[in-house]
Amino acid sequence: MVAPGSLQAAVSLLAEQPGVWLPIAGGTDVMVQYAAGKLPARKLVSLWNLPELRRIELTEKEIAIGAGCTYTDLRQHETLEREFPLLTTAARWTGGIANQNRGTLGGNIANASPAADSLPALLVYEAELILISARGARHIPYAGFHTGYKKTRLQPDELVQAIRLPRRFGDYVSYSRKVGARNAQAISKVCIAALGRIRQGIVDDARIAVGSVAPVPLRLSNTERLLRGQRIDDELVRRITNTAIEEIQPINDIRSTAVYRSVVFKNLVTEFLVQLAAGENQA
Ligand SMILES: Cc1cc2nc3c(=O)[nH]c(=O)nc-3n(C[C@H](O)[C@H](O)[C@H](O)COP(=O)(O)OP(=O)(O)OC[C@H]3O[C@@H](n4cnc5c(N)ncnc54)[C@H](O)[C@@H]3O)c2cc1C
Repeated sequence: MVAPGSLQAAVSLLAEQPGVWLPIAGGTDVMVQYAAGKLPARKLVSLWNLPELRRIELTEKEIAIGAGCTYTDLRQHETLEREFPLLTTAARWTGGIANQNRGTLGGNIANASPAADSLPALLVYEAELILISARGARHIPYAGFHTGYKKTRLQPDELVQAIRLPRRFGDYVSYSRKVGARNAQAISKVCIAALGRIRQGIVDDARIAVGSVAPVPLRLSNTERLLRGQRIDDELVRRITNTAIEEIQPINDIRSTAVYRSVVFKNLVTEFLVQLAAGENQA
């Protein structure tokens, strides 16, 4: 393993031999794969604590989170906690304290697990990714970054440099839940992050994203479309949950069954709608 000490040196290394070097940040996913004998024989390039990846920068319109920020960094950031509670709550749910001190947001994104806890929050907050390579930087919407199970649009010579979030969700109702075998140290059976805003009794905007119910973290676009412009009542809840269930593709695996995931998912969407109608936050 090498630790080049600067972002520029790290991307130069990737450019010289694309696909040969495997970036490692906190190592909380890479080391698990290594211990399980599932790590393809590759050279490791450490991104841990690179100052260029560890910043959180604020402008009037957005917040830019360095990909190397840990879950502890996120939890301790006042503006994130106030304006992006779905992300800081997901950080609190990600493993135990030791894991939160090492695990990074960039690692969660690049590892691309459909069960990853912070990814639904990034979808509803309309995150943009800054990807960096020796060829330069490119900005892409986070939506669409995951192209299939554990597949992403990241090129072999690229790193995730930062995640940008627009600061325009401060007045939304936030709702998130993680359903697992226990509260911490468990991979989600279903996780959800949702935002909504009601004006004069009518849903003015709604955003719902879920993990662990499809090959990629999923935004429920059809459900959101149906919800906008409506007044929430029992009939709407019934229609919305029926549409939502058509958008997911849950599977049976070692953590849960497709049927259980579907039932829990329906209950979570219902709970979000009830809380949105009441104007209550649960993030
Ligand atoms: C005990 C334990 C509990 C956990 N609990 C949870 C949980 O509750 N919820 C959850 O979502 N996850 C959980 N995880 C998984 C893991 O902690 C997270 O996915 C974490 O965010 C990974 O970040 P990392 O920096 O450790 O990534 P690493 O292990 O360093 O890297 C993971 C992958 O991302 C790539 N990578 C890392 N940084 C970059 C970058 N900047 N650019 C490009 N590629 C990059 C690496 O090459 C590798 O493929 C848990 C892990 C453990 C060991």
